[in-house]
Amino acid sequence: MTRPPFSTITGADPRVAGGRLIVDLDALAANYLELAERSTPAEAAAVVKADAYGLGAGPVVQTLSAVGCRRFFVALPEEGLAVREAAPEAEIYVFNGLFSPEAAAFYREGRLLPVLNSQSDLAIWEAHGWDDGEEPRPCALHLETGMNRLGLTAERTRVLAQENALTGALTPRLVISHLACADTPGHPMNRRQLESFQELCALFPDSESSLANSSGIFLDGAFLRDVTRPGIALYGGSPIAGPENPMRPVVTAEARIAQLRHVPAGQSVSYGATPVARDTLVAVASAGYADGYHRAASGAGVPLRQAVASGASGFVAGQRVPVIGRVTMDLTLFDVTALGPDTLQVGDFIELFGRNMPIDEVAAAAGTVSYELLTALGRRYERHYVHGEATA
Ligand SMILES: *Cc1c(COP(=O)(O)O)cnc(C)c1O
Repeated sequence: MTRPPFSTITGADPRVAGGRLIVDLDALAANYLELAERSTPAEAAAVVKADAYGLGAGPVVQTLSAVGCRRFFVALPEEGLAVREAAPEAEIYVFNGLFSPEAAAFYREGRLLPVLNSQSDLAIWEAHGWDDGEEPRPCALHLETGMNRLGLTAERTRVLAQENALTGALTPRLVISHLACADTPGHPMNRRQLESFQELCALFPDSESSLANSSGIFLDGAFLRDVTRPGIALYGGSPIAGPENPMRPVVTAEARIAQLRHVPAGQSVSYGATPVARDTLVAVASAGYADGYHRAASGAGVPLRQAVASGASGFVAGQRVPVIGRVTMDLTLFDVTALGPDTLQVGDFIELFGRNMPIDEVAAAAGTVSYELLTALGRRYERHYVHGEATA
């Protein structure tokens, strides 16, 4: 596998883009290797749904393949076809199952493996699944153990195991379930789900099993099973509670400064007219909620957010700078008074999150999680895929 080229490969024209995303593929590879190590003796797969959490499935899958990842999970068949292009030999599972018999053609085209979640999925795959001669209708089975989102009930699973032992209609290569509270290690739900899963896995002695997402890898070894399924931790989101993130940051999002303006004490800023108490230097940055910088990250004293008092901060010229007033669709205001009048210029970049501004902190300030910041990034950034500290 060759490494993807070191260049801007997608996104907006860098001469005029409002912001840029820097995706550090070396950090991504290092995070995979770290998770693979922690998953041992299980094998670490990679969850690359939603365009690899917004980072771009092509370069992400190539990078992970190059360091030894050979199984991928996506949510939808078309995402699976994109992964197939980047990883011709990989095993690719599709979480959301089969909505209709027509879906089976996509699975055949991409040699994709459906995760069967329901009676209807089972029936469609039995009737329309692909067959490579040795293994009839290969698939994964999703067993419900407490999430109540997708998955076959315990009763249905028992019946299926008996039937399939007789007919061999399906080849369940893998059985999976999903943890509801893996980010809370002490939660009794984790143990309950593990026990139910162990019991149900015993019905499929020829299948591998998989339970742990990113956070699940950091629970005790019993959760590792045969295959782990990290997503967010690959991309630098913290898999554990608390300030110490064991993963390396992968994505840095930056917005260009469109204007610097002095707002005198007593005036106000942005929609809803947030009052400004002192003379303030404001950097107007060219990214807003349409670029995934959430409106709920708006500055202190903004009445639209009750839960977190302070709002988010950006990072520029070696310092944190708080958001001031409401985040708008295309623009966000930062209070850069502390930097003095001569530090910044129009066209400079303010970091929204990344190497200097931890993504989990920005997410918390917006009342959300790192997953939502990444998957909401949108199409208006120039995108740089880099290796290590290099910049394009
Ligand atoms: C998204 C997803 C994962 C990955 O979860 P992370 O918390 O991002 O590691 C694993 N398994 C299933 C079923 C998922 O939907």
